[in-house]
Amino acid sequence: MMKREMAGWGNFPKTKAEVEKPDSENEVRSLQKSVGIHIPRGAGRSYGDSSLSSTILESAKLNQTLIFDSENGIYTCQSGKMLNVILDEIVPRGYFLPVTPGTKFITVGGAIAADIHGKNHHVDGCFSQHLLWFNLMMADGSVKKCSRTENPELFWATCGGMGLTGFILEASFQLKKIETSKIVNRTIKCENLDKVITNLLEHENYTYSVAWIDCGTSGKNLGRSLLYLGEHANKAEVADDLSRYKTPSPIIGLPFNLPNWTLNKWTVKAFNALYYGKVRRKDSTAIVGFEPYFYPLDIANKWNRLYGSNGFAQYQFVIPMEGAREGMNRIMQEIVKSGESSFLAVLKLFGEQNEGWLSFPKRGLQLALDFPINRKSLELMNRLDDMVMDMNGRSYLAKDSRMKREFFESSYPKLPQFKQLLSEIDPNGKFRSLQSDRLGIT
Ligand SMILES: Cc1cc2nc3c(=O)[nH]c(=O)nc-3n(C[C@H](O)[C@H](O)[C@H](O)COP(=O)(O)OP(=O)(O)OC[C@H]3O[C@@H](n4cnc5c(N)ncnc54)[C@H](O)[C@@H]3O)c2cc1C
Repeated sequence: MMKREMAGWGNFPKTKAEVEKPDSENEVRSLQKSVGIHIPRGAGRSYGDSSLSSTILESAKLNQTLIFDSENGIYTCQSGKMLNVILDEIVPRGYFLPVTPGTKFITVGGAIAADIHGKNHHVDGCFSQHLLWFNLMMADGSVKKCSRTENPELFWATCGGMGLTGFILEASFQLKKIETSKIVNRTIKCENLDKVITNLLEHENYTYSVAWIDCGTSGKNLGRSLLYLGEHANKAEVADDLSRYKTPSPIIGLPFNLPNWTLNKWTVKAFNALYYGKVRRKDSTAIVGFEPYFYPLDIANKWNRLYGSNGFAQYQFVIPMEGAREGMNRIMQEIVKSGESSFLAVLKLFGEQNEGWLSFPKRGLQLALDFPINRKSLELMNRLDDMVMDMNGRSYLAKDSRMKREFFESSYPKLPQFKQLLSEIDPNGKFRSLQSDRLGIT
């Protein structure tokens, strides 16, 4: 088979790989046997190299709904099912995803393997916390059903295990009941980082919260932000016919990579000033559709091409609550000082760590920033690794393409346990990605 150039969402790094798209359990088994080293892949929305290997087994053709139990809100499907397609099925019947990331264009397999979190982590935890079971095809071709009670070790190693424990075939998870497709969105304008952190903590009772941060300001306006708090609107608040709901398709798209300089210090600064300025009132509430609330970036197809052919990295980290205020201030100052502006900077509050061995969230504050790949930004991210490591924080594998190995090893305490399990279930190291080799997991 011909090799194709493949990359994650950040378009960095790129590699040549053979891509197989099995359409049945038997085909997954025979491919796993014949291809040797490989990694599963969903929709390729992880940013770095976690779904890259010399051979890639893409789940695109394993995309069937198996059972939608609308009585009890339990959804069972193959792992290649995309969240946008699930929304089309469940929203008209009064359900929503229990946890959703900032894009709906990911698969259920990818949601489990990264143990994704949303704007409600402080209330509802990660995807794994709503997962009932999944079937996993192991390196030896056997299929194991995994849940909290059946093969629990494999269950918690796979949730957040970045595709290294096996190929997830099917999964079943609990949905959330909704009355409308709208969100009551309260927006609070915060003039600096200190204010937004205070507001995030004061409003912890909101189901959803996220702050967009302007990384271009310094001094007393360092980290000025718009904090978005949200709740699903009920029928008394807004009239809405759920049965007519259909997820919108992206309305604009970038047909090719823009020049590498498109997103520079000045364009980002101008965008940020406009974005912050568009909100006039200090504290306002509006009813909005859940699409613009949860998935504002999905409006543009292939927006990752904005960063040009060199690609970009998302630096996403969490630091424990103790010392988080001071720590975030120091990190923001380092970013502003470097002159590397981030087009996107998102601050969230995390709840407690779950049992996932390599699951990312733990109690604290998390920040995610996008940087175009260049020498200066790579140096900055290395410095940030050191700072976050000192603060006892950690970085998210689903976004990573360049993390320092010592930082990774010191920040995931269950890593030795994970490696031990891999040596037992996959002694010949069939499942491996560029990321797992780079970080010494495999
Ligand atoms: C715009 C944007 C916003 C995002 N926002 C968030 C957010 O708010 N919160 C969050 O947590 N994440 C977020 N993400 C990251 C994204 O949710 C995760 O990277 C997710 O894993 C992507 O799923 P995917 O189907 O694209 O998987 P891929 O990117 O293809 O793969 C990701 C990992 O899952 C493994 N995998 C995929 N399918 C299987 C399978 N069938 N069996 C075993 N392993 C498998 C792969 O080996 C790989 O390690 C965001 C990404 C984008 C592009």
